Amino acid sequence: MSVTALVENKTIFGPIRSRRFGNSLGIDLSPALKQCNFDCLYCELAPAATVDKQTNIVSVQTIIEDLKNALDEHNNIDVITLTANGEPTLYPYLSELIDEIAKIKGEREILILTNSAALIDEKVFQTLLKLDQVKLSLDAVTPEVFKKIDRPHKGIEIDILTCKVQEFSQEFAGKLYIEILFVYGLNDTKEEVQAINEVLKTLSHVERIDIGTIDRPPAYPVQGISYTELYEIAQMFDASLPIHIASRTHAESCVSSYTDEKIINTLDKRPLTLEDIELLFDEDSKSRLKKLIETGDITTNRIGNLEFLVLSKNLKRKR
Ligand code: SF4
Repeated sequence: MSVTALVENKTIFGPIRSRRFGNSLGIDLSPALKQCNFDCLYCELAPAATVDKQTNIVSVQTIIEDLKNALDEHNNIDVITLTANGEPTLYPYLSELIDEIAKIKGEREILILTNSAALIDEKVFQTLLKLDQVKLSLDAVTPEVFKKIDRPHKGIEIDILTCKVQEFSQEFAGKLYIEILFVYGLNDTKEEVQAINEVLKTLSHVERIDIGTIDRPPAYPVQGISYTELYEIAQMFDASLPIHIASRTHAESCVSSYTDEKIINTLDKRPLTLEDIELLFDEDSKSRLKKLIETGDITTNRIGNLEFLVLSKNLKRKR
């Protein structure tokens, strides 16, 4: 495998202010072209044949030099995010790169955004254990839906992949996030959501489960779902799971009236962010919510960078 230092393609991008992860400096581990072991229907990159290894490779030295320059320029970075035009775990020197970043990162944390498939490879599995934060995508758990939506490289089987995700959640000491992207008519069925729910219930130490939908032009002619549908899907998951609706682009006006009792029942089942409240509550309901906050029945709880409204009694119970 020949190493091509793609100096003309910038490996560093950002900083990006992420609501979920703070100030992030991104590293693109495939800046010249899409190299991915999936060809997801919803991908924001153009369709491309899947690969199981990178052939167009940037050197570790190039990335570290670019990163040092960027860190000198931006002194407010919370997280260094490993990503790619494609799948970052296909980068063949990932372990060495993480070790080199660790030497210069200071207090900043290292995060990777991955489609999870490479966890099947023991070397990648061990490499990801070294990170501070890992976000795994898991769009489907039944073979049929997985193949339809994520169009994986041959040999990637969802049953093995979900076992590896479970194993990883037990061994990983850092912050683990799961992301599920819902596509209309594919993984938004009751059956698939229930199957995903069963897998999620078996995971340990998951910080947050972000559910979202298509919010950029997709590679293939598929459609996202509405915020209301996302909200309904969120209700279908087990109440103990830290589900967070991440996608706002398809937000539509669906405000309705909530009595005190309905507010309490809703927050008892699922903590909501202020943004959720804006999308769900009419003005009178917001006033009722304000009063419940003033009386101390409802309080806020910060998880990572997000603030959730929760029942005070639930917060005490968890302590
Ligand atoms: S895993 Fe990511 S980069 Fe790869 S095809 Fe899917 S959305 Fe695109």
